[in-house]
Amino acid sequence: MLLTEKQLELVDRQIKRLIKTDSFYGKKYRELGITECKSQADFDQIPFASKDDLRFAYPLGIQAVDDKDVVRIHSSSGTTGRPVIIPYTQKDVEDWAIMFQRCYEMAGITQHDRIHITPGYGLWTAGIGFQAGCERLGAMAIPMGPGNTEKQLQMMIDLKSTVLTATSSYALLLSEEITRRGLKDRICLKKGVIGSERWSEKMRNTIKNALGISLYDIYGLTEIYGPGIGISCDEEDGIHYFDDYVFIEIIDPVTGQRLPDGESGEIVITTLVKEGAPLLRFRTHDLSRIIPGTCACGSPYPRLDVITGRSDDMFKIHGVNLFPSQIESILGMVDGVGSEYRIILARDSETRRDVLHITVEAEGRVDFAETSRKVAKLAKTKFGVTPRVAVVPIGSLSRSEKKTKRVEDQREM
Ligand code: ZN
Repeated sequence: MLLTEKQLELVDRQIKRLIKTDSFYGKKYRELGITECKSQADFDQIPFASKDDLRFAYPLGIQAVDDKDVVRIHSSSGTTGRPVIIPYTQKDVEDWAIMFQRCYEMAGITQHDRIHITPGYGLWTAGIGFQAGCERLGAMAIPMGPGNTEKQLQMMIDLKSTVLTATSSYALLLSEEITRRGLKDRICLKKGVIGSERWSEKMRNTIKNALGISLYDIYGLTEIYGPGIGISCDEEDGIHYFDDYVFIEIIDPVTGQRLPDGESGEIVITTLVKEGAPLLRFRTHDLSRIIPGTCACGSPYPRLDVITGRSDDMFKIHGVNLFPSQIESILGMVDGVGSEYRIILARDSETRRDVLHITVEAEGRVDFAETSRKVAKLAKTKFGVTPRVAVVPIGSLSRSEKKTKRVEDQREM
C-alpha cells in the first residue's frame, strides 16, 4: 500500500515537527539530513523505528512535546530488559478513544450495551483503552480488570454484561468455567471483543460455542496508542484499520523491502497525527498481509488479515524454521486435542541433538498415548521434525490474563 496525498501531507508535518525537537527521532532525522516528506520516495528513505530505539531512549527520550502537554504515560510489557515508555498528549488520548469507539461500533455495540472489561488497568494500555472507548460510545463500562474468576462470573450474571472484552486465553478460561458450572443460561453475553494476541481457529470456535457469542478481533500495540487501531467486522474477513490515524505497510522481515498488497510479511506502522511520541515506520514484528479490495461489509477502511504470528517467535530446530502457528495447524487435525499448547526447545546433552517438546491438552475420552503418537507423526510428515509430545487433560496448562508465552527456548542455558 502506498501513501495517499493526505497521508503524505501528515507524514511531512510529523517530520517537520520532529526535527525541531531534541527527541530521539528529531535528532536522528536531523543527523540523516531528513527535512521533509514530499513523495513516496522520500518516505522510503525514512529509517525503520524499532522497539530497541524505544528501549535505548528510556525513559522519555522519544517525547516530542513539552512536558506540560503530556497528560499520561503507558509502558509496554517488555519480556526482557528495559521497558518502553510512551507519553500521550490530551489529543493522543482522545484520538485513541475515537478509534476505540469506532471499533465498538464496527462490532455493532451500542450505548445499550454493558461492557465487561477484563484486561488489566495501569501501565498497560489495555483496560483503560477499552474503558475510554466504551464511555465515549456511551455504553456502560464494568471495569473488572483481570483475575478473580468467582467475582467475574457473579458480576457478569448480576449486571447482565452483554459484551466481554478479554485476551483470548482469558476468554477461554472464562468460557471453560461457564461451561463447567453450567452457567450458560444465566449469562447475557452477545459479543466478545478479543485482543492482544494471536489465537487459533480452534480456540476461537471453543469460545464461540461455549458462550454462544460472536467474536471480534481487536488489534493494536502500546507503542501505537494501544489496542483499538483496528477490528474485524461481521464478515470475519480481516481487521479494518483506521488509515486516517495510521499508515500500514507490509515488509519482508529479512530484507526490509516493502511487499505488494496481498503478500505476507511484517506489519510496519506510521502514526499520522500522534503528538506525544510519533513513530514513523515502526516495526511491529507482527506477521500479516494487507487484504486487497474492499470488504463485503462496505466499510471504507482497509484491512489487515488475521495476525499469523510474530517474526521473532520463529524458532529453528534441526535446520527447519517453524512458527507456533504451524504447530497449531496440526493440533487442529487431531481428534479430541484442545487449543492450548506449550513448546519447549531443549538440548539432549547425551545425543547432542536439539529436542522439540510439545505439551498439548486433550479430552478425557481419547487415548493419550495414541494422541501423542498422532501429533508426533503429523509433525514429522508436515515439517520433517519428530517432536516428543506430552498429552495432559484439558485445563492443565495455565491460562493467563496477559499474553501467554507459548514457546520456551532452553537450549541457550
Ligand atoms: Zn468489513
